[in-house]
Amino acid sequence: MIYPIVKFGDPVLETKAAPVTKFDADLRQLLDDMFESMYAAHGVGLAAPQIGVSRRIAVIDVTFKEDPKQKLVLINPEIIHSEGRISQNEGCLSIPEFRENVTRPKKVTVRAQNAKGEFFEHTGEELLARAFCHETDHLNGKLYISHISALKRDLMKRKIRKLVKAGEW
Ligand SMILES: [Zn+2]
Repeated sequence: MIYPIVKFGDPVLETKAAPVTKFDADLRQLLDDMFESMYAAHGVGLAAPQIGVSRRIAVIDVTFKEDPKQKLVLINPEIIHSEGRISQNEGCLSIPEFRENVTRPKKVTVRAQNAKGEFFEHTGEELLARAFCHETDHLNGKLYISHISALKRDLMKRKIRKLVKAGEW
């Protein structure tokens, strides 16, 4: 099923998500639903809190359906290595219509569990490295706007408050 995406302002997005301990059929269903919800929202990454589920799960497909082999499930992910710095435009499904430049590591290695609970490590560069950082941040209750200047963040929040008032958020 396709879940609606939770938008900025909902406290679940700023709450540290709980670790996954059961790797069962319910989890596999949730992962299928997360991919479906991510594609429906035209995203290349989605963290469980973005569908209101406060658990440490993220799905990523930086090829957006082009290469099924690139589909990635990250359960209980931890960034174990990062190097370099690169500034790129970044957005978030939970903060639609806004984008800002964010400096992130250029190369990132993540350690996580798959749907069966098996540990693996994966190294990504550029967009994939950015996705690892962005989604891991989500699971720690952190949004990309915490990496931009306070001035830009306040401006964005003011615009969002206006949208909320207008019933457009
Ligand atoms: Zn996001």
